[in-house]
Amino acid sequence: MTRPQDLAGWRDLAEQLKTELECRAFINDEFVDAESGETFETINPATGEVLARVASCDAADADKAVAHAREAFRGGEWSRMAPGKRKQVMLRLADLMEQHRDELALLDTLDMGKPIMSSLGDMAGAIGTIRYQAECIDKMYGEVAPTGEDALAMVLREPLGVVASIVPWNFPLMMTAWKIGPALAAGNSVILKPSEKSPLSALRLAQLALEAGLPKGVFQVLPGFGHTVGKALALSMDVNCLAFTGSTGVGKMLMQYAGQSNLKRVYLECGGKSPNLVFADCRDLDRVARHAAEAIFHNQGEVCIAGSRLLVENSVREAFVDKVLKAAESMQPGDPLDPQSFMGAIVDQTQYERILDFIRQGVEEGARLRTGGEALEGPGLFIRPTVFDGVTDQMTIGREEIFGPVLSVFGFDSEDEAVAMANDSDYGLAAGLWSQDIDRIMRVTRRLESGQVFVNNWAGGDQTVPFGGVKQSGNGRDKSHHSLEEYSELKSVWMALG
Ligand code: NAD
Repeated sequence: MTRPQDLAGWRDLAEQLKTELECRAFINDEFVDAESGETFETINPATGEVLARVASCDAADADKAVAHAREAFRGGEWSRMAPGKRKQVMLRLADLMEQHRDELALLDTLDMGKPIMSSLGDMAGAIGTIRYQAECIDKMYGEVAPTGEDALAMVLREPLGVVASIVPWNFPLMMTAWKIGPALAAGNSVILKPSEKSPLSALRLAQLALEAGLPKGVFQVLPGFGHTVGKALALSMDVNCLAFTGSTGVGKMLMQYAGQSNLKRVYLECGGKSPNLVFADCRDLDRVARHAAEAIFHNQGEVCIAGSRLLVENSVREAFVDKVLKAAESMQPGDPLDPQSFMGAIVDQTQYERILDFIRQGVEEGARLRTGGEALEGPGLFIRPTVFDGVTDQMTIGREEIFGPVLSVFGFDSEDEAVAMANDSDYGLAAGLWSQDIDRIMRVTRRLESGQVFVNNWAGGDQTVPFGGVKQSGNGRDKSHHSLEEYSELKSVWMALG
């Protein structure tokens, strides 16, 4: 199938796709209704259209899936399969995702409103993760410990068991791949709980996993709400690990659920309020301003590592902010199916109202609204790129994760002040810094309390580097071989000799 080239082409493909949606849960290799028979609506936020009614799983479905996952794990068809063979199955899955890349991208765009070009970029990331993790598994070695001659001691890496992956809606399939890639590669049985706001691509992925030949019960998908099926998985006595991406508030609850149940491992990738530091000595202010605008307006600002706090050295601040405003003007939201759109729709009514509420608070608390600050006429949930200048860290918009297209600009006079402002946050997911002075770059990089630092770029990275945060942004690491290690347990074997 050739890729649509324009809005009309994507609309045609969307109409065709809507007639073929799989909306049931995927349990033990079968698509089934929720035990309760309940369903929920998934809505296209760009049009308000109900796309489908999807199975609404709850504790009964979670129990069933966990039992099948455990049975599959103990059976060993996947967990004890030679790594080289597991690799082949996962590479087949990646190939199938590649073949169905347009369709998977379209499902995410229809479900949560992101521009189609952005969804296609996510697919490249998702497929790349499955391939990278597949390629890692037959290259990981255990250890032989340095003992005396009377013993042989080995440190073996083994899968954890049953992993529940609970993911958000902002990069539905890419976040899914970041979780299930290493968890499956390590030999675990995985139960995926997609967000109730974007369940469709996960269910399509289940069809592809079946076709790729993942054994029964090794990969299952339970659509439904967090407080029902998500909570049941988190409280299960037979889930060994929760791999979560989502808000800090829910992340805290998951740690409590783990404590109330079986002390399962909890890996958290949570929220952020990431600072982007622009020093007066940086090269090409026009280019930096464009990157600073993209850092917040990409994906309508619904990005965990959005560069939502722009810290600019006061000597260039006025001129720099003017350039950011110009860049923002060129990033107005449009139909997500239009390949020309840079920004799409906000995921749902609740998030839309939340963002507009933050904008109102920004004005009330005295920040200077320089552009945007309003929604587009409906239908659809679209908010203009919004820039506030003169923000302080006492203001709500300066501290809270808005998760929308709202940029807060702060000024600073010295490097120490910039670092102190950057670190004055509960979060520590990402930080950017723009400068030509290598000494300053290294000094500031080391002092930033952040899981990742982008120097003279924003959001750079590939499969080879881990992704995750510090402080209340979480404790896990996605991507790279470090994530594969998280999904395995060390077993020490001491053999007495002679
Ligand atoms: P959310 O926390 O509301 O939901 C995330 C997932 O958790 C969903 O699947 C939801 O159904 C589930 N959930 C909700 N309550 C639950 C409960 N009580 N028990 C079990 N599961 C529950 O987050 P969201 O609105 O979907 O996503 C936005 C958030 O995700 C933002 O804070 C963003 O920063 C964060 N995020 C972080 C990263 C990262 O890598 N650090 C990446 C993307 C998004």
